[in-house]
Amino acid sequence: LPAIFEPARPVLQKIEAAGYEAYFVGGCVRDTILHDDIHDIDIATSAYPSEIKAIFNHTVDTGIEHGTVMILDHGTGYETTTFRTESGYQDYRRPDKVTFVRSLSEDLKRRDFTINALALREDGEVIDLFNGLTDLQKHLIRAVGDPNERFHEDALRMMRAVRFASKLNFVIDGPTLTGIKENAPLLAKIAVERIRVEFEKLMLGQKPVAGLQDFISTGLYQYCPGLADAKDVLSALLLLNHWELENEAQLWAVICIQLQLDQGEINKFLKKWKTANDLISQVKKIVPAVTAIRQRSLMPVTIFKTGAAALHDANQVAKLYGWAIPDKDLQAAYQQLPIKNSKELAVDGKMLITKAGIKPGPLMGKIIQQLTTTVINGKITNDPVALLNEAQKIMKEG
Ligand code: ATP
Ligand code: MG
Repeated sequence: LPAIFEPARPVLQKIEAAGYEAYFVGGCVRDTILHDDIHDIDIATSAYPSEIKAIFNHTVDTGIEHGTVMILDHGTGYETTTFRTESGYQDYRRPDKVTFVRSLSEDLKRRDFTINALALREDGEVIDLFNGLTDLQKHLIRAVGDPNERFHEDALRMMRAVRFASKLNFVIDGPTLTGIKENAPLLAKIAVERIRVEFEKLMLGQKPVAGLQDFISTGLYQYCPGLADAKDVLSALLLLNHWELENEAQLWAVICIQLQLDQGEINKFLKKWKTANDLISQVKKIVPAVTAIRQRSLMPVTIFKTGAAALHDANQVAKLYGWAIPDKDLQAAYQQLPIKNSKELAVDGKMLITKAGIKPGPLMGKIIQQLTTTVINGKITNDPVALLNEAQKIMKEG
């Protein structure tokens, strides 16, 4: 048994001692065999959720209607899911009815790809019913069973295939790829949030170009928000070599740059993808900053407005295109800002009222903004006396 599973071994042993079967399954088995890092350990068992809860003192109902209970053991949580089959796939979406079963093979059969359908016993034996180990060796993503049927059951699996191509730098097996091409339009039935998760994982994977290539050639992109006509624009990404994207904001900025979207269009586009509002505002800061970096016209005011995080993101995006400036130069430029945010201005509204005789109102906001800009541009020091004088000057000039 690989060392990483040792701490979880007593959990399987305890379930088995109670008379049930239990295995490590899914991504953790696949990634361990590939010598990749694993983030969490999933367990599949013949025990029903109530039976698991009777065996362990500390459990959390994380998804009990789907058969998932989290077992807490020495501070670690193990998602433990009862063997199940899924039926009644209506609308090409994940089924709403799951049936608990007592057989491992039934459970493995419903999984998407052979490399994801491996189970690992507590004694180290790998259960491999669909030649997943061979496919792991060959670096192949192959549907369990008939690809056409499997994509009809759940169209999201097509997006999962292309994201695993990127995540693992694997090739999609011929018939599976054909199955995706033939069923790509079914993706339109899938909730955009779920497509987004897979697309983001694709863009942040080991080999985005591999995943994107399949995403384009299979036609899946046509059924994604705002990308129906984006074949050329997406294909241009395949020529880029320096993929070091670190987060969602960066990858969405790349897509928006490719599509040449302006601020209003970025908003509309990302709303269609149902991204969080925080992400939208971050992308709207990153995109113009990338342009400024590209044109070597990054002014203190832009640096100030962009902020440290978006600035870093922008340079990371710029790296992909070969436009970046050295990170340390960018950091130095940021550090040189006399103030990093408007709260650091040496005067505030209250002072402007009491000490400079400015009345509250719309002019106030304008004055504060103008003072901020003047300080950032180094035209005046961030000092209360100087700023109050300047404020009065602005007021007189109207
Ligand atoms: P990751 O490391 O990205 O989490 P993973 O393989 O663990 O990869 P999950 O989405 O966490 O992927 O799913 C866990 C397991 O559940 C998969 O390995 C697969 O066996 C099964 N699975 C997940 N989604 C589907 C699906 N849509 N259809 C069939 N099986 C699925
Ligand atoms: Mg997982």
